[in-house]
Amino acid sequence: MRAVDLIRKKRDSGEHSRDEIDFLISGYTRGNIPDYQMSAWLMAAWLQGLTRSELAALTEVMLCSGEILNLADLRPRKVDKHSTGGVGDKTSLILAPIVAAGGLIVPMISGRGLGHTGGTLDKLEAIPGFNVNLSLLDFRRVLRECGMGLIGQTAEIAPADKKIYALRDATSTVESIGLICASIMSKKLAEGIDALVLDVKTGSGAFMKSEEDSVRLAEVMVETGERMGKRVVALITDMNQPLGCWAGHSVEVAECIEILNDRGPADLRDLSIELAAWMFFLGDRTRSVDDGRLLAESMIVSGQAKEKLKQCIHLQGGDEKIVDQPEFLPAANSREHVLSSSAGFLTATDCQQLGVALAMLGGGRERKEDFIDHAVGLEFHARIGDRIENGQPLATIHYNSAAKLAEAKALIASSYQISESAPDEAPLLIHRIIGG
Ligand code: URA
Repeated sequence: MRAVDLIRKKRDSGEHSRDEIDFLISGYTRGNIPDYQMSAWLMAAWLQGLTRSELAALTEVMLCSGEILNLADLRPRKVDKHSTGGVGDKTSLILAPIVAAGGLIVPMISGRGLGHTGGTLDKLEAIPGFNVNLSLLDFRRVLRECGMGLIGQTAEIAPADKKIYALRDATSTVESIGLICASIMSKKLAEGIDALVLDVKTGSGAFMKSEEDSVRLAEVMVETGERMGKRVVALITDMNQPLGCWAGHSVEVAECIEILNDRGPADLRDLSIELAAWMFFLGDRTRSVDDGRLLAESMIVSGQAKEKLKQCIHLQGGDEKIVDQPEFLPAANSREHVLSSSAGFLTATDCQQLGVALAMLGGGRERKEDFIDHAVGLEFHARIGDRIENGQPLATIHYNSAAKLAEAKALIASSYQISESAPDEAPLLIHRIIGG
């Protein structure tokens, strides 16, 4: 077999056999197939799509590129959540401590920022000392001691996704139902979980802009998880504006701590509680999703979730004092407001553009080897439906380097659409796709 023939086959809309997919993915993971050939194949797959049997093969081959964790020795059920990615999408750092404090195990393997979206691993690295590269032995120890652990793909777990994810980010091949499904499910199925809650984002800040594509993505992911014997539910949630009031790295960690302190924005709190409630329910910790909501709320109000986050940060080598004193997180040294140039109602945001502006300021990567400035961030002052006055600050840029400030500021200003009449209210939770 030769990679060049398989690239041509996909380009010409042929269907791969499982052996062909194995050849490509295993060859690339081992370094036998170069980046340029994998990039060409990814673009062909992006353009032509993957059939259901190709998708099943891709997910399985990527899953089997590494070890599948066996956590059977840990008694409570193992559950996780994964989001398809958005701007200001930070629920993992809230619900992992809620669910672990509520008695389940959360073995979370996360990704880095992708495209215009932020990644949990990059956010965690804003916490001084936090180690996302634990060995499997240490990951197990952390899970046993505190019920939650947050790591990235390693040479042992889902190494194929680790390599392909970075390449997709740099080759504009992210927004594909097949590639997203295989990426997410290969990581999640390697975690040794019993159940999974998927947060499938839809709208201007999501990879899937239309509700129809988001539903298709959710359906294939639920189907893939169930085929592998997991209980899976997908919530389709709105990403037409950033989640919460902040996007960035340190600033998002600080906003998560606000929620765990029983403060912070309602949309972020509501979505975190909803996702945690489904995790409790699928993990058989509560008899209903309603009971799951009550349990999630009580973990916040009692402070138990916050204590759990501290414990996890400590066990993963981080400085847990940031939980009580978020001022010890890296902070940007300058600020600039983005003002509205008209009056009316905020009717829409180009949420992807807001994510691109953040990346431009150093809060994301243009190339896979780029470093991230964890201190930069965007603070959002207006939500869709709000009345806006001329000259009112729509957002504040927290930055260190002014190199691309003007460009980012213009992009942010043009992301806000202000009109005379108020838009209809849009729900945060749009659909549920429940397996089996
Ligand atoms: N999150 C992932 O882990 N993979 C994708 O492809 C998109 C979002």
